[in-house]
Amino acid sequence: MKALIYPKTISRREPERFAPAVIAQRTKARKRLFSDRTYRIGSENAFRIGPQIRELELQGHKVIKCNLGEPDFPLAKHIADEIKRQIDLDLTHYCDPQGILPLREAIARIVSRTRKIDISPDCVVVFPGGKPPIGLTQQTYCNPGDEVIYPSPGFPIYESFAGYVGARPVPLHLQEEADFSFGGREIAPLITDRTRVIILNFPSNPTGGVSTREQLEEIADVIYAKAPDQVRIYSDEIYEDILFDRNHHHSIASVPEMTERTIIVGGVSKSFAWTGGRVGWAVFPTTEEAAVFKNLNINYFSCVPAYNQMGAAVALESPLSAESISRMCDAFSERRDLMVAGLNSISGIRCRKPGGAFYLFPNIAGLCEKLGAIEAYRKMPAGDREQSSPSTLVQMFLLWRYQVATMDRRSFGSIGSEGQHYLRISIATALDDLKIGLERIHKAATDIDGFQNFIKEGKHVC
Ligand code: PLP
Repeated sequence: MKALIYPKTISRREPERFAPAVIAQRTKARKRLFSDRTYRIGSENAFRIGPQIRELELQGHKVIKCNLGEPDFPLAKHIADEIKRQIDLDLTHYCDPQGILPLREAIARIVSRTRKIDISPDCVVVFPGGKPPIGLTQQTYCNPGDEVIYPSPGFPIYESFAGYVGARPVPLHLQEEADFSFGGREIAPLITDRTRVIILNFPSNPTGGVSTREQLEEIADVIYAKAPDQVRIYSDEIYEDILFDRNHHHSIASVPEMTERTIIVGGVSKSFAWTGGRVGWAVFPTTEEAAVFKNLNINYFSCVPAYNQMGAAVALESPLSAESISRMCDAFSERRDLMVAGLNSISGIRCRKPGGAFYLFPNIAGLCEKLGAIEAYRKMPAGDREQSSPSTLVQMFLLWRYQVATMDRRSFGSIGSEGQHYLRISIATALDDLKIGLERIHKAATDIDGFQNFIKEGKHVC
Protein backbone atom coordinates (compact mmCIF):
# COMPACT_ATOMS: atom_id res chain seq x y z
CA MET A 1 0.00 0.00 0.00
CA LYS A 2 1.36 3.45 -0.92
CA ALA A 3 2.27 5.92 1.80
CA LEU A 4 -0.20 8.75 2.00
CA ILE A 5 0.82 12.32 1.36
CA TYR A 6 -1.54 15.10 2.28
CA PRO A 7 -0.90 17.91 -0.20
CA LYS A 8 -0.78 21.37 1.33
CA THR A 9 -3.14 22.72 -1.27
CA ILE A 10 -6.02 20.46 -0.28
CA SER A 11 -6.64 20.40 3.44
CA ARG A 12 -8.26 17.25 4.83
CA ARG A 13 -10.70 19.52 6.55
CA GLU A 14 -11.61 21.27 3.32
CA PRO A 15 -14.78 19.29 2.53
CA GLU A 16 -16.14 20.15 5.97
CA ARG A 17 -15.67 23.85 5.37
CA PHE A 18 -19.34 24.41 4.85
CA ALA A 19 -20.62 22.08 7.59
CA PRO A 20 -23.34 24.06 9.39
CA ALA A 21 -21.77 23.43 12.80
CA VAL A 22 -18.45 24.75 11.53
CA ILE A 23 -20.06 27.84 10.03
CA ALA A 24 -21.95 28.39 13.26
CA GLN A 25 -18.75 28.17 15.31
CA ARG A 26 -16.86 30.55 13.06
CA THR A 27 -19.58 33.12 13.01
CA LYS A 28 -20.49 32.88 16.70
CA ALA A 29 -18.73 36.04 17.70
CA ARG A 30 -19.71 37.94 14.58
CA LYS A 31 -23.06 39.00 13.26
CA ARG A 32 -24.41 36.01 11.42
CA LEU A 33 -24.42 36.20 7.66
CA PHE A 34 -27.11 33.58 7.07
CA SER A 35 -30.63 33.10 8.34
CA ASP A 36 -31.04 30.97 11.48
CA ARG A 37 -32.52 28.13 9.47
CA THR A 38 -29.43 27.95 7.28
CA TYR A 39 -27.41 26.84 10.30
CA ARG A 40 -29.88 24.06 10.97
CA ILE A 41 -29.77 22.15 7.69
CA GLY A 42 -27.69 18.98 7.50
CA SER A 43 -26.26 17.29 4.42
CA GLU A 44 -25.68 13.98 2.67
CA ASN A 45 -22.16 12.87 3.50
CA ALA A 46 -22.05 10.36 0.63
CA PHE A 47 -21.61 13.40 -1.60
CA ARG A 48 -19.39 15.28 0.82
CA ILE A 49 -16.57 12.72 0.99
CA GLY A 50 -16.13 13.00 -2.80
CA PRO A 51 -13.20 15.48 -2.54
CA GLN A 52 -11.37 13.23 -0.06
CA ILE A 53 -11.72 10.31 -2.46
CA ARG A 54 -10.49 12.46 -5.32
CA GLU A 55 -7.52 13.52 -3.23
CA LEU A 56 -6.56 9.86 -2.71
CA GLU A 57 -7.04 9.13 -6.39
CA LEU A 58 -4.81 12.06 -7.32
CA GLN A 59 -2.14 10.42 -5.20
CA GLY A 60 -2.49 7.30 -7.36
CA HIS A 61 -4.58 5.14 -5.06
CA LYS A 62 -7.38 2.91 -6.22
CA VAL A 63 -10.24 3.71 -3.88
CA ILE A 64 -12.94 1.07 -3.48
CA LYS A 65 -16.08 3.16 -3.48
CA CYS A 66 -18.58 1.56 -1.16
CA ASN A 67 -19.95 4.98 -0.26
CA LEU A 68 -22.14 5.56 -3.28
CA GLY A 69 -25.88 5.15 -3.46
CA GLU A 70 -26.05 4.70 -7.20
CA PRO A 71 -26.25 1.50 -9.22
CA ASP A 72 -23.09 0.84 -11.23
CA PHE A 73 -25.04 -0.15 -14.34
CA PRO A 74 -25.50 1.79 -17.55
CA LEU A 75 -28.84 3.27 -18.46
CA ALA A 76 -30.73 0.66 -20.54
CA LYS A 77 -30.52 1.26 -24.28
CA HIS A 78 -34.29 1.48 -24.87
CA ILE A 79 -34.49 4.35 -22.36
CA ALA A 80 -31.41 6.16 -23.70
CA ASP A 81 -32.77 5.83 -27.24
CA GLU A 82 -36.06 7.43 -26.23
CA ILE A 83 -34.31 10.40 -24.59
CA LYS A 84 -32.22 10.97 -27.73
CA ARG A 85 -35.27 10.64 -29.93
CA GLN A 86 -37.13 13.26 -27.87
CA ILE A 87 -34.18 15.66 -28.07
CA ASP A 88 -34.17 15.20 -31.84
CA LEU A 89 -37.89 16.05 -31.80
CA ASP A 90 -36.89 19.26 -29.98
CA LEU A 91 -38.70 18.45 -26.76
CA THR A 92 -36.22 20.79 -25.12
CA HIS A 93 -38.36 23.64 -23.86
CA TYR A 94 -40.35 24.54 -20.75
CA CYS A 95 -43.10 22.06 -20.04
CA ASP A 96 -45.87 21.41 -17.51
CA PRO A 97 -44.47 22.21 -14.03
CA GLN A 98 -46.54 19.34 -12.60
CA GLY A 99 -44.89 16.89 -15.00
CA ILE A 100 -45.81 16.09 -18.61
CA LEU A 101 -49.09 14.23 -18.95
CA PRO A 102 -47.73 11.04 -20.61
CA LEU A 103 -45.41 10.49 -17.64
CA ARG A 104 -48.03 11.32 -15.02
CA GLU A 105 -50.41 8.92 -16.78
CA ALA A 106 -47.79 6.18 -16.80
CA ILE A 107 -47.06 6.72 -13.10
CA ALA A 108 -50.77 6.71 -12.26
CA ARG A 109 -51.33 3.46 -14.21
CA ILE A 110 -48.39 1.69 -12.58
CA VAL A 111 -49.03 2.89 -9.05
CA SER A 112 -52.74 2.01 -9.39
CA ARG A 113 -51.90 -1.48 -10.63
CA THR A 114 -49.13 -2.30 -8.15
CA ARG A 115 -50.80 -0.78 -5.06
CA LYS A 116 -54.31 -1.85 -6.06
CA ILE A 117 -55.67 1.67 -5.61
CA ASP A 118 -57.16 4.16 -8.01
CA ILE A 119 -54.77 7.02 -8.80
CA SER A 120 -55.51 9.99 -11.03
CA PRO A 121 -52.67 11.59 -13.05
CA ASP A 122 -53.88 14.87 -11.50
CA CYS A 123 -52.58 13.69 -8.12
CA VAL A 124 -49.09 13.02 -9.52
CA VAL A 125 -46.32 15.63 -9.40
CA VAL A 126 -42.92 15.13 -11.06
CA PHE A 127 -39.77 16.45 -9.37
CA PRO A 128 -36.07 16.55 -10.27
CA GLY A 129 -35.41 13.27 -8.42
CA GLY A 130 -36.87 11.55 -5.42
CA LYS A 131 -35.07 13.91 -3.06
CA PRO A 132 -36.84 17.29 -3.51
CA PRO A 133 -40.26 16.16 -2.23
CA ILE A 134 -38.66 15.27 1.15
CA GLY A 135 -37.96 18.88 2.05
CA LEU A 136 -40.95 20.29 0.21
CA THR A 137 -43.27 17.97 2.11
CA GLN A 138 -41.93 19.04 5.50
CA GLN A 139 -42.07 22.66 4.42
CA THR A 140 -45.66 22.28 3.23
CA TYR A 141 -47.26 20.36 6.09
CA CYS A 142 -45.23 21.51 9.14
CA ASN A 143 -45.33 24.68 11.14
CA PRO A 144 -42.50 25.30 13.61
CA GLY A 145 -42.86 22.89 16.52
CA ASP A 146 -44.82 20.29 14.54
CA GLU A 147 -43.28 16.85 14.59
CA VAL A 148 -41.76 14.70 11.88
CA ILE A 149 -41.24 11.01 12.62
CA TYR A 150 -38.57 9.37 10.49
CA PRO A 151 -36.52 6.17 10.56
CA SER A 152 -33.05 6.33 12.05
CA PRO A 153 -30.76 5.13 10.63
CA GLY A 154 -32.45 6.60 7.58
CA PHE A 155 -31.82 8.71 4.50
CA PRO A 156 -30.09 11.80 5.97
CA ILE A 157 -32.27 14.33 4.21
CA TYR A 158 -35.26 13.37 6.41
CA GLU A 159 -33.55 14.65 9.57
CA SER A 160 -31.76 17.44 7.76
CA PHE A 161 -34.97 19.14 6.65
CA ALA A 162 -36.84 18.76 9.95
CA GLY A 163 -34.35 21.16 11.54
CA TYR A 164 -34.43 23.47 8.54
CA VAL A 165 -38.20 23.96 8.60
CA GLY A 166 -38.24 24.30 12.39
CA ALA A 167 -40.11 21.04 12.93
CA ARG A 168 -39.23 18.76 15.83
CA PRO A 169 -37.33 15.75 14.51
CA VAL A 170 -38.58 12.52 16.10
CA PRO A 171 -36.30 9.62 15.14
CA LEU A 172 -37.74 6.12 15.16
CA HIS A 173 -34.68 4.07 16.07
CA LEU A 174 -34.54 0.89 14.02
CA GLN A 175 -33.28 -2.27 15.67
CA GLU A 176 -30.79 -4.66 14.13
CA GLU A 177 -32.50 -7.61 15.86
CA ALA A 178 -35.70 -6.77 13.95
CA ASP A 179 -33.77 -6.61 10.65
CA PHE A 180 -34.18 -2.82 10.82
CA SER A 181 -37.90 -3.11 10.23
CA PHE A 182 -40.70 -2.18 12.62
CA GLY A 183 -44.40 -2.42 13.29
CA GLY A 184 -47.13 -0.65 15.25
CA ARG A 185 -45.57 -1.20 18.67
CA GLU A 186 -42.44 0.75 17.78
CA ILE A 187 -44.16 3.73 16.22
CA ALA A 188 -47.04 4.11 18.72
CA PRO A 189 -45.13 5.93 21.50
CA LEU A 190 -43.80 8.53 19.04
CA ILE A 191 -47.13 9.78 17.71
CA THR A 192 -48.57 12.91 19.36
CA ASP A 193 -51.09 15.63 18.53
CA ARG A 194 -48.25 17.55 16.88
CA THR A 195 -47.30 14.72 14.48
CA ARG A 196 -47.72 16.03 10.94
CA VAL A 197 -45.43 13.87 8.80
CA ILE A 198 -44.49 10.22 9.29
CA ILE A 199 -41.74 9.04 6.97
CA LEU A 200 -41.52 5.39 6.01
CA ASN A 201 -38.81 4.00 3.76
CA PHE A 202 -39.03 0.39 2.66
CA PRO A 203 -36.79 -1.03 1.23
CA SER A 204 -34.56 1.16 3.29
CA ASN A 205 -31.45 3.20 2.81
CA PRO A 206 -29.09 2.55 4.63
CA THR A 207 -30.17 -0.78 6.15
CA GLY A 208 -31.88 -2.62 3.30
CA GLY A 209 -34.76 -3.33 5.71
CA VAL A 210 -38.09 -4.31 4.16
CA SER A 211 -41.58 -4.54 5.63
CA THR A 212 -44.29 -7.15 5.45
CA ARG A 213 -47.89 -6.34 4.67
CA GLU A 214 -48.73 -7.29 8.29
CA GLN A 215 -46.26 -4.77 9.69
CA LEU A 216 -47.68 -2.03 7.50
CA GLU A 217 -51.19 -2.94 8.62
CA GLU A 218 -50.08 -2.65 12.24
CA ILE A 219 -48.47 0.73 11.57
CA ALA A 220 -51.65 1.82 9.78
CA ASP A 221 -53.83 0.78 12.73
CA VAL A 222 -51.71 2.85 15.09
CA ILE A 223 -51.68 5.88 12.80
CA TYR A 224 -55.44 5.64 12.35
CA ALA A 225 -56.02 5.43 16.09
CA LYS A 226 -53.43 7.93 17.35
CA ALA A 227 -52.40 10.43 14.70
CA PRO A 228 -54.28 13.64 13.87
CA ASP A 229 -56.47 13.32 10.74
CA GLN A 230 -54.30 15.73 8.79
CA VAL A 231 -51.16 13.62 9.26
CA ARG A 232 -49.35 12.66 6.07
CA ILE A 233 -47.40 9.45 5.65
CA TYR A 234 -44.44 10.09 3.38
CA SER A 235 -43.80 6.65 1.94
CA ASP A 236 -40.42 6.79 0.24
CA GLU A 237 -40.55 3.77 -2.06
CA ILE A 238 -37.64 4.65 -4.32
CA TYR A 239 -36.08 1.18 -3.86
CA GLU A 240 -39.35 -0.65 -4.57
CA ASP A 241 -37.86 -2.70 -7.43
CA ILE A 242 -34.65 -3.73 -5.69
CA LEU A 243 -35.65 -6.75 -3.66
CA PHE A 244 -34.02 -10.11 -2.93
CA ASP A 245 -35.11 -13.61 -1.95
CA ARG A 246 -38.47 -13.29 -3.73
CA ASN A 247 -39.49 -10.47 -1.37
CA HIS A 248 -42.46 -8.47 -2.61
CA HIS A 249 -42.85 -4.74 -2.24
CA HIS A 250 -45.72 -3.56 -0.07
CA SER A 251 -46.94 0.00 0.21
CA ILE A 252 -48.83 1.40 3.18
CA ALA A 253 -50.97 3.25 0.62
CA SER A 254 -52.65 -0.08 -0.16
CA VAL A 255 -53.95 -0.41 3.40
CA PRO A 256 -57.55 0.85 3.77
CA GLU A 257 -57.82 4.32 5.36
CA MET A 258 -54.18 5.00 4.49
CA THR A 259 -54.57 5.78 0.76
CA GLU A 260 -56.02 9.17 1.67
CA ARG A 261 -53.17 9.90 4.11
CA THR A 262 -50.20 8.69 2.08
CA ILE A 263 -47.81 10.43 -0.29
CA ILE A 264 -46.20 7.69 -2.39
CA VAL A 265 -42.75 8.63 -3.62
CA GLY A 266 -40.70 6.99 -6.35
CA GLY A 267 -38.22 7.75 -9.09
CA VAL A 268 -35.95 6.49 -11.82
CA SER A 269 -32.62 6.83 -9.97
CA LYS A 270 -32.42 3.35 -8.47
CA SER A 271 -34.75 1.10 -10.49
CA PHE A 272 -33.30 2.20 -13.81
CA ALA A 273 -29.75 3.06 -12.68
CA TRP A 274 -30.48 6.59 -13.82
CA THR A 275 -29.37 8.91 -11.02
CA GLY A 276 -28.39 11.61 -13.51
CA GLY A 277 -31.85 11.72 -15.11
CA ARG A 278 -33.26 13.64 -12.12
CA VAL A 279 -36.77 12.33 -12.47
CA GLY A 280 -38.76 11.48 -9.38
CA TRP A 281 -42.41 11.75 -8.44
CA ALA A 282 -44.89 11.89 -5.64
CA VAL A 283 -48.51 10.76 -5.70
CA PHE A 284 -50.56 12.97 -3.39
CA PRO A 285 -53.81 12.05 -1.66
CA THR A 286 -55.72 14.95 -3.29
CA THR A 287 -55.51 17.16 -6.36
CA GLU A 288 -55.50 20.17 -4.00
CA GLU A 289 -52.23 18.95 -2.48
CA ALA A 290 -50.77 18.17 -5.91
CA ALA A 291 -51.60 21.74 -6.96
CA VAL A 292 -49.68 23.14 -3.98
CA PHE A 293 -46.60 21.14 -4.97
CA LYS A 294 -46.99 22.12 -8.61
CA ASN A 295 -46.86 25.73 -7.46
CA LEU A 296 -43.71 24.99 -5.44
CA ASN A 297 -42.16 23.54 -8.58
CA ILE A 298 -43.04 26.74 -10.43
CA ASN A 299 -41.37 28.73 -7.68
CA TYR A 300 -38.24 26.62 -7.43
CA PHE A 301 -37.30 25.19 -10.82
CA SER A 302 -40.22 25.56 -13.29
CA CYS A 303 -40.12 22.03 -14.66
CA VAL A 304 -38.13 18.84 -15.15
CA PRO A 305 -36.59 18.38 -18.65
CA ALA A 306 -39.36 16.96 -20.83
CA TYR A 307 -37.08 14.62 -22.82
CA ASN A 308 -36.04 12.91 -19.60
CA GLN A 309 -39.66 12.65 -18.54
CA MET A 310 -40.46 10.91 -21.84
CA GLY A 311 -37.54 8.58 -21.16
CA ALA A 312 -38.99 7.90 -17.70
CA ALA A 313 -42.39 7.05 -19.21
CA VAL A 314 -40.71 4.49 -21.46
CA ALA A 315 -38.67 3.17 -18.52
CA LEU A 316 -41.85 2.59 -16.56
CA GLU A 317 -43.90 0.99 -19.31
CA SER A 318 -41.55 -0.79 -21.68
CA PRO A 319 -41.53 -4.59 -21.31
CA LEU A 320 -37.73 -4.39 -21.77
CA SER A 321 -37.29 -2.69 -18.39
CA ALA A 322 -38.21 -5.72 -16.28
CA GLU A 323 -35.28 -7.62 -17.73
CA SER A 324 -32.72 -4.91 -16.90
CA ILE A 325 -34.09 -4.55 -13.37
CA SER A 326 -33.94 -8.28 -12.81
CA ARG A 327 -30.35 -8.49 -14.13
CA MET A 328 -29.34 -5.73 -11.74
CA CYS A 329 -31.06 -7.37 -8.76
CA ASP A 330 -29.37 -10.71 -9.53
CA ALA A 331 -25.98 -8.96 -9.50
CA PHE A 332 -26.76 -7.16 -6.21
CA SER A 333 -27.95 -10.42 -4.70
CA GLU A 334 -24.72 -12.23 -5.62
CA ARG A 335 -22.64 -9.36 -4.21
CA ARG A 336 -24.74 -9.24 -1.06
CA ASP A 337 -24.20 -12.93 -0.35
CA LEU A 338 -20.46 -12.70 -0.90
CA MET A 339 -20.02 -9.55 1.16
CA VAL A 340 -22.26 -10.60 4.05
CA ALA A 341 -20.39 -13.90 4.38
CA GLY A 342 -17.03 -12.12 4.08
CA LEU A 343 -17.88 -9.43 6.64
CA ASN A 344 -19.22 -12.01 9.09
CA SER A 345 -15.91 -13.85 8.89
CA ILE A 346 -14.11 -10.76 10.30
CA SER A 347 -13.78 -10.70 14.05
CA GLY A 348 -15.67 -7.69 15.49
CA ILE A 349 -18.11 -7.37 12.57
CA ARG A 350 -21.65 -8.74 12.45
CA CYS A 351 -23.75 -8.26 9.33
CA ARG A 352 -27.37 -9.14 8.58
CA LYS A 353 -28.63 -9.98 5.11
CA PRO A 354 -30.68 -7.07 3.78
CA GLY A 355 -33.97 -7.87 2.07
CA GLY A 356 -33.69 -5.07 -0.49
CA ALA A 357 -31.87 -1.94 -1.75
CA PHE A 358 -28.11 -2.23 -2.30
CA TYR A 359 -26.56 -1.55 1.06
CA LEU A 360 -25.11 -3.60 3.88
CA PHE A 361 -25.24 -2.18 7.37
CA PRO A 362 -22.80 -4.17 9.49
CA ASN A 363 -22.55 -3.76 13.23
CA ILE A 364 -18.92 -2.88 13.95
CA ALA A 365 -19.14 -2.45 17.73
CA GLY A 366 -16.61 -5.26 18.27
CA LEU A 367 -14.25 -3.75 15.72
CA CYS A 368 -14.50 -0.29 17.30
CA GLU A 369 -13.63 -1.85 20.64
CA LYS A 370 -10.78 -3.94 19.25
CA LEU A 371 -9.11 -1.11 17.32
CA GLY A 372 -9.51 1.31 20.21
CA ALA A 373 -11.95 3.60 18.38
CA ILE A 374 -14.27 3.93 21.34
CA GLU A 375 -11.42 5.02 23.60
CA ALA A 376 -9.96 7.31 20.93
CA TYR A 377 -13.34 8.96 20.49
CA ARG A 378 -13.72 9.41 24.24
CA LYS A 379 -10.39 11.28 24.36
CA MET A 380 -11.25 13.70 21.55
CA PRO A 381 -11.90 17.36 22.45
CA ALA A 382 -15.64 18.02 22.84
CA GLY A 383 -15.76 20.22 19.72
CA ASP A 384 -14.29 17.49 17.50
CA ARG A 385 -16.48 14.81 19.08
CA GLU A 386 -19.59 16.67 17.96
CA GLN A 387 -18.77 15.91 14.33
CA SER A 388 -17.57 12.36 14.97
CA SER A 389 -18.24 8.97 16.56
CA PRO A 390 -16.29 5.71 16.97
CA SER A 391 -17.69 4.46 13.66
CA THR A 392 -16.61 7.74 12.03
CA LEU A 393 -13.05 7.05 13.19
CA VAL A 394 -13.19 3.57 11.66
CA GLN A 395 -14.69 5.03 8.48
CA MET A 396 -11.81 7.54 8.26
CA PHE A 397 -9.22 4.86 9.02
CA LEU A 398 -10.62 2.62 6.26
CA LEU A 399 -10.61 5.51 3.82
CA TRP A 400 -7.19 7.06 4.50
CA ARG A 401 -5.19 3.96 5.38
CA TYR A 402 -6.93 1.27 3.33
CA GLN A 403 -8.69 3.28 0.62
CA VAL A 404 -12.11 1.79 1.18
CA ALA A 405 -14.84 4.43 1.19
CA THR A 406 -17.76 3.61 3.49
CA MET A 407 -20.25 5.71 5.45
CA ASP A 408 -20.52 5.97 9.22
CA ARG A 409 -23.68 5.52 11.30
CA ARG A 410 -24.14 9.20 12.09
CA SER A 411 -24.40 10.05 8.40
CA PHE A 412 -27.87 8.49 8.54
CA GLY A 413 -29.44 10.59 11.26
CA SER A 414 -27.28 11.74 14.13
CA ILE A 415 -29.93 12.44 16.78
CA GLY A 416 -29.75 9.68 19.36
CA SER A 417 -27.18 7.70 17.38
CA GLU A 418 -24.58 7.76 20.18
CA GLY A 419 -23.42 4.29 21.13
CA GLN A 420 -24.56 2.78 17.81
CA HIS A 421 -21.59 1.47 15.87
CA TYR A 422 -22.37 0.70 12.25
CA LEU A 423 -21.07 1.33 8.77
CA ARG A 424 -22.99 1.49 5.52
CA ILE A 425 -21.34 -0.43 2.74
CA SER A 426 -22.83 0.07 -0.71
CA ILE A 427 -22.69 -2.99 -2.95
CA ALA A 428 -23.38 -0.90 -6.03
CA THR A 429 -19.75 -1.52 -6.99
CA ALA A 430 -18.30 -4.22 -9.23
CA LEU A 431 -17.87 -7.65 -7.63
CA ASP A 432 -14.10 -7.69 -8.20
CA ASP A 433 -13.73 -4.33 -6.47
CA LEU A 434 -15.90 -5.50 -3.59
CA LYS A 435 -13.60 -8.49 -3.16
CA ILE A 436 -10.61 -6.14 -2.95
CA GLY A 437 -12.52 -3.97 -0.48
CA LEU A 438 -13.33 -6.98 1.67
CA GLU A 439 -9.68 -8.03 1.75
CA ARG A 440 -8.65 -4.53 2.79
CA ILE A 441 -11.28 -4.40 5.56
CA HIS A 442 -10.00 -7.80 6.73
CA LYS A 443 -6.46 -6.41 7.02
CA ALA A 444 -7.61 -3.16 8.62
CA ALA A 445 -9.54 -5.11 11.26
CA THR A 446 -6.32 -6.48 12.74
CA ASP A 447 -4.20 -3.35 12.26
CA ILE A 448 -4.45 -2.04 15.81
CA ASP A 449 -1.08 -0.26 15.64
CA GLY A 450 -2.02 1.30 12.32
CA PHE A 451 -5.24 2.63 13.84
CA GLN A 452 -3.45 4.06 16.87
CA ASN A 453 -0.87 5.78 14.64
CA PHE A 454 -3.62 7.11 12.44
CA ILE A 455 -5.24 8.70 15.49
CA LYS A 456 -1.90 10.10 16.71
CA GLU A 457 -1.35 11.77 13.35
CA GLY A 458 -4.60 13.63 13.95
CA LYS A 459 -6.01 12.87 10.51
CA HIS A 460 -9.20 11.41 11.88
CA VAL A 461 -10.79 14.75 12.74
CA CYS A 462 -13.63 15.57 10.38
N1 PLP B 1 -34.87 8.52 -0.94
C1 PLP B 1 -33.96 7.61 -0.56
C2 PLP B 1 -34.30 6.66 0.53
C3 PLP B 1 -32.70 7.55 -1.16
O1 PLP B 1 -31.80 6.65 -0.79
C4 PLP B 1 -32.41 8.48 -2.20
C5 PLP B 1 -31.09 8.49 -2.84
O2 PLP B 1 -30.13 7.92 -2.41
C6 PLP B 1 -33.39 9.41 -2.54
C7 PLP B 1 -34.61 9.40 -1.91
C8 PLP B 1 -33.12 10.45 -3.59
O3 PLP B 1 -33.13 9.93 -4.85
P1 PLP B 1 -32.86 10.84 -6.13
O4 PLP B 1 -31.46 10.63 -6.52
O5 PLP B 1 -33.83 10.34 -7.15
O6 PLP B 1 -33.13 12.25 -5.77
